[in-house]
Amino acid sequence: MKKIAILGSTGSIGTQTLDVVRNNPDLTVVALAAGSSVEKMEGQIREFRPQVACMWTEEAAADLRSRVADLPVKIVAGMEGLLEIAVLPDAQVLVTAIVGMIGIRPTIAAIEAGKDIALANKETLVTAGHIIMPLAKKHGVSILPVDSEHSAIFQSLNGEPADKIAKIWLTASGGPFRGRTSKELAHIQVEDALKHPNWSMGRKITIDSSTLVNKGLEVIEAKWLFGVDLDRIRVVVHPQSVIHSMVEYVDGAIMAQLGTPDMRLPIQYALFYPDRRPMGGKKLDFFELGQMTFEKPDTDTFAGLKLAYQAATVGGSMPTVYNAANEKAVALFLNRRISYLEIPELIAGAMEQHKAIDNPGVDEILQTETAVYEYIEGKVND
Ligand code: NAD
Ligand code: MG
Repeated sequence: MKKIAILGSTGSIGTQTLDVVRNNPDLTVVALAAGSSVEKMEGQIREFRPQVACMWTEEAAADLRSRVADLPVKIVAGMEGLLEIAVLPDAQVLVTAIVGMIGIRPTIAAIEAGKDIALANKETLVTAGHIIMPLAKKHGVSILPVDSEHSAIFQSLNGEPADKIAKIWLTASGGPFRGRTSKELAHIQVEDALKHPNWSMGRKITIDSSTLVNKGLEVIEAKWLFGVDLDRIRVVVHPQSVIHSMVEYVDGAIMAQLGTPDMRLPIQYALFYPDRRPMGGKKLDFFELGQMTFEKPDTDTFAGLKLAYQAATVGGSMPTVYNAANEKAVALFLNRRISYLEIPELIAGAMEQHKAIDNPGVDEILQTETAVYEYIEGKVND
């Protein structure tokens, strides 16, 4: 029996993780956490019977507490609640399926408590990878990638050492606006950007996929997870999203992982690694697929990717600025307060005015986040 806790259980990754639990009776859910969806959380508690559940606000927690008063579940709230779940003695694996930098503290707490991490929350690694990776090594815990590209790289590596890697080829679908010009992007509306061609995901990551910021975050995520320098991580646009990423070795051999776009595979692989379990769902049919195509990413139109390489090259607190500026800009775009092209503009502006701090601690990372949020609010309210 493997006992897991899930942060972000009501979201896209969270609900697909629970699907994997449904299909594997030897997985038990001991804790769940979500932002504000009380009703969904009540349903999950009734089905999976965790010991602890967390809602972000006290009001939501109080509402949930009265709804599940008939069950022996402890309801907690806020960051304190997330931290309690992160270190829950019974949990062996923490699935970080929360969105944004809010995942940093719980992830660190879980590692210190010796939990393996099934990591979907890429923003945490982008901003605090220099803290998380050494800490995981120190505590002997595994960071198992859930992001499909990183799972593909992990599967293609299969234990080979980092010094045998010549390149990592990170595939990108190119998003819904592939092939468009900047002029054509000027009037993009929220609804257009929320239509991803191949994957159904949460709102924030769907916008990030359309701007290529998601791929930028994934480049930095790959650097930390696999210990590979930036100049050996290449992005290739592959609109069919069938090759989930590839590793090129020093002898020129390239290993790739292919499959239909279904996040339950990387989730299940992370939860049972190194075992492979049978999985339902549609399998890849090469005759139906016919062909696979590849393109260079257009980083002039989609500056989000170029800015990620710049942020990672500077290092220190700059990736935090890149990420925090994007989180804030995407929230403003979703609230229709800024236009689509202002997303990369605000990221570039925030990076330009920031003086990077070397090797920032968690407090400095979170202070940088606050400062970036204030900078952007100031810009938008000008
Ligand atoms: P989502 O928006 O669908 O779900 C986010 C979850 O986090 C929800 O359960 C929400 O209630 C919870 N949450 C938000 N704020 C919270 C808070 N303050 N406290 C507690 N819980 C909170 O997002 P998603 O698409 O599932 O993405 C989650 C993470 O996984 C992101 O970091 C994303 O980049 C990464 N990821 C997602 C996919 C995908 O297919 N969806 C693929 C790869 C990586
Ligand atoms: Mg991905």
